[in-house]
Amino acid sequence: MALTPLVDAIDHILGQISAISKTETIGLSDALGRVMAHDFFATMQVPPMDNSAMDGYALDVESMADGDVLAVSQRIPAGAVAQALQPGTAARIFTGAEVPAGANAVVMQENTEVVEGGVKILICPRHGDNIRLAGNDIDIGQCIVTAGQRLRAQDIGLLASLGVAQVEVVAKPNVALLCTGDELVEPGDPLGPGQIYNSNQYMLASLLKGWGCEVETFASVEDDLESVKTALSHASRLCDLIISSGGVSVGEEDHVRAAVEELGHLSMWRLAIKPGKPVAFGAIADIPFLGLPGNPSSSFVTALLVARPLLIKLAGLQNDSLLEISVTADFDWPHAGSREEYLRVKLIRHEGEFRASAYDNQSSGALMAASWGNALARIPIGSTVTKGDSVKVLLFDSLFS
Ligand code: AMP
Ligand code: MG
Repeated sequence: MALTPLVDAIDHILGQISAISKTETIGLSDALGRVMAHDFFATMQVPPMDNSAMDGYALDVESMADGDVLAVSQRIPAGAVAQALQPGTAARIFTGAEVPAGANAVVMQENTEVVEGGVKILICPRHGDNIRLAGNDIDIGQCIVTAGQRLRAQDIGLLASLGVAQVEVVAKPNVALLCTGDELVEPGDPLGPGQIYNSNQYMLASLLKGWGCEVETFASVEDDLESVKTALSHASRLCDLIISSGGVSVGEEDHVRAAVEELGHLSMWRLAIKPGKPVAFGAIADIPFLGLPGNPSSSFVTALLVARPLLIKLAGLQNDSLLEISVTADFDWPHAGSREEYLRVKLIRHEGEFRASAYDNQSSGALMAASWGNALARIPIGSTVTKGDSVKVLLFDSLFS
């Protein structure tokens, strides 16, 4: 069977996925990372009033000259209500305080001197100096955040600046996560002969939670057809997506494929990527199913490259912030592969530029490289890399969010 290019597999998967239509209204303090359900338009100006950008004196600059002395007719701290400026006087004013009607500039206090009878304006400001006009940040009717946008801290701050207390967001995808393997033991339990700890469950659940999912885990499903079928049909009643780890190869202990085919339908690929060749996709009773390989690094890489775009679509996200950049390789990769390779690399700043170092052990069973690294270097099919070459990398930080 020919190897399937990653893009073709993703195209197929995305064609089967529709965004969750359920929404919920939540408080702004719970909104970090949530996906906006609708565009949101400003209903007020920010700032709501002309205010001072400096501590100083508000005044009318018309017919004034450097060195003039003005009486101080009022004091306006931030939050106070300003009275109209008496002609020919200055108002003591502080940063963020409302500029009084009749004033058209603020002179910063460093350019003044308190003297007998008032304040001496050493350097007269120009019209408009140090005044932040109402609406200069946000105007009424301006689009603030758009449907499908994941809310970041600065977006939440922007909404708060408009007095918004609640937002309508897309409901979190509920993902059922099944890890298959008779050899798997939960961390915290003693390890018997022939056993290993179930690391994929914790890694995948952490990735999924980071992508804004609710995760229901089915720990260590046994390697027999009935156990896998029972777990899958139970999962399909609980969630918006089923993800499994392990058991999707073609060995006789790999039952996920047969179980999904009996309960629903399945497309199975040998993806043209390394690590991460065996990946399965299908559905059980209209619930999409994604089967990831069991080898920890394969699981990690396919989660980033396959599960992530699927979840972005499911979660209703419109923009994925994938950041692919070119950096200089600080490693040699002499073996041209028949699959696109995703090396776990670390970008280190070196004499003003970023260079990518590759971890020695790039085995699909070894997870250390992923923990050590901060990016995936994409090596095209048939390519080799010599130190100093330019390589394309996907930054983990952009893949994790
Ligand atoms: P499989 O895909 O089930 O054939 O598993 C491939 C390799 O990954 C085997 O060495 C498994 O022991 C290992 N593996 C499978 N599932 C997990 C898991 N949840 N955590 C850690 N390693 C796993
Ligand atoms: Mg297995």
